[in-house]
Amino acid sequence: MPDLIRGLGASPANPGAAPPRLPFSRVTQEVLAFFRTLLPGRTITDPDLLKSSNVDWLKTVEGNSEVLLRPKTTEEVSQILRHCSERNLAVCPQGGNTGLVGGSVPVFDEIILSTSLMNQVITFDNISGILTCQAGCVLENLSNYLEERDFIMPLDLGAKGSCHIGGNVSTNAGGLRLLRYGSLRGTVLGLEVVLADGRILKCLATLRKDNTGYDLKQLFIGSEGTLGVITAVSILCPRKPKAVNVAFLGCSSFQQLLETFQYCRGMLGEILSAFEFLDASCMSLLEKHLKLTNPITESPFYIVIETAGSNATHDEEKLHQFLEEVMTSSLVTDGTVATEATKIKALWSLRERVTEALTHEGYTYKYDISLPVEKIYDLVQDMRGHLGDMAKNVVGYGHVGDGNLHLNITSPSKDPALLAAIEPYVYEWTSEWKGSISAEHGLGLKKRNYIYYSKPSEAVALMGSIKAMLDPKGILNPYKTLPDNIH
Ligand SMILES: Cc1cc2nc3c(=O)[nH]c(=O)nc-3n(C[C@H](O)[C@H](O)[C@H](O)COP(=O)(O)OP(=O)(O)OC[C@H]3O[C@@H](n4cnc5c(N)ncnc54)[C@H](O)[C@@H]3O)c2cc1C
Repeated sequence: MPDLIRGLGASPANPGAAPPRLPFSRVTQEVLAFFRTLLPGRTITDPDLLKSSNVDWLKTVEGNSEVLLRPKTTEEVSQILRHCSERNLAVCPQGGNTGLVGGSVPVFDEIILSTSLMNQVITFDNISGILTCQAGCVLENLSNYLEERDFIMPLDLGAKGSCHIGGNVSTNAGGLRLLRYGSLRGTVLGLEVVLADGRILKCLATLRKDNTGYDLKQLFIGSEGTLGVITAVSILCPRKPKAVNVAFLGCSSFQQLLETFQYCRGMLGEILSAFEFLDASCMSLLEKHLKLTNPITESPFYIVIETAGSNATHDEEKLHQFLEEVMTSSLVTDGTVATEATKIKALWSLRERVTEALTHEGYTYKYDISLPVEKIYDLVQDMRGHLGDMAKNVVGYGHVGDGNLHLNITSPSKDPALLAAIEPYVYEWTSEWKGSISAEHGLGLKKRNYIYYSKPSEAVALMGSIKAMLDPKGILNPYKTLPDNIH
């Protein structure tokens, strides 16, 4: 296992490391007895069973929790939090544990509150397309449930087989369909949330329109488990498209890729559902580590375009006109198109599995940056020049349609000198171009102290006041999201 961030104490040289433990109480036998009565057979203390919940997906952050709780109902979550609040015990909410910023695992001995058994669909209205479900439903299970009913989830991401809808909402996950269906801030219609002291906030509306007072659910969307535990979600789901096509194309420069994007928006308009990219270094890693095959001739850049519409003939015609245009104008050097499910899946996996391929490269420094779309690859090229031989690989991929770059830098093992060369350089670069240092992954443990690169200090102070109001003892996911100077 690579070196882990564990109680190192954040310092100006390493703002992503954990700060010292705050003075929370320790779990006692009396506390355990309470949990065992409340959750018989669902209060886990066996260190072997706890292991995977203490380590994040990237295996870069590891906590030391001795208790994992697996409630099934909102009432149970409420009783857990009331008990923890009264005794000043810290809690780490956990969904599918696929988060990439060290937010989903304890830093020290926080109690892990897992939503994995809160996995029931509550209602689905097949006229409005509104789904209401518990927070622990796995995204892919919800997608399958809806597809059987001729609907789809408005979001999709590579971690769909493990991540929970509650985790998606808590991180405001973006993913592969944002270009078409927008962010969870628009599609989530209601939330049920348990507050730090155990109060249940029932804002599980199933209405498209509701302007009665402040929209409190927005506070919890993207709050990474620091303001409340989401126990149920209602979400607006689109109809399943009748026809889906995927094109996988090669481009010889990023400028040509951007011009292709312009044509694409103009010619595919209402049927365009995704425009994603990866560079040649990503393709090499997919071939090397996952044995995936590049279906087209080698190119410096690759694009995945998806169309989703209601008329197969019409959609194919549009796609072919677009492809003819970009091929004849030499914007695209080669390409292939899929209309059949297995081939579509194979093409998508070239984009979706880049994150997985990178884990086989050693240690990965991950950056999830929003920038004006024409600048996104400049950062990759600039970083290559800046780091020279220090890095094993500097790769770029991401959601072109959303101006979102995933910049990943690998080295054989954790390397403080390399980290010092990357940070704060990458954040200064981003800030200079008025970008965001976290487009969709959140801040978690790793990025909390960099928030000032994207938000003014007045805004961060107000976030601190909101945290103090909703969680005065600071028991919910401490050491995450907010910087160390705000508790
Ligand atoms: C292969 C791969 C691909 C990915 N692709 C994308 C992508 O395209 N777009 C994207 O945005 N992200 C992506 N991610 C990141 C990650 O999958 C998402 O952030 C996801 O939404 C996290 O869901 P989860 O259930 O795993 O949450 P976790 O990782 O368990 O938790 C994430 C955060 O939410 C909090 N949390 C979890 N559940 C709750 C709850 N019920 N109430 C309150 N707080 C809670 C946790 O405390 C933590 O801070 C990817 C990750 C992987 C591994």
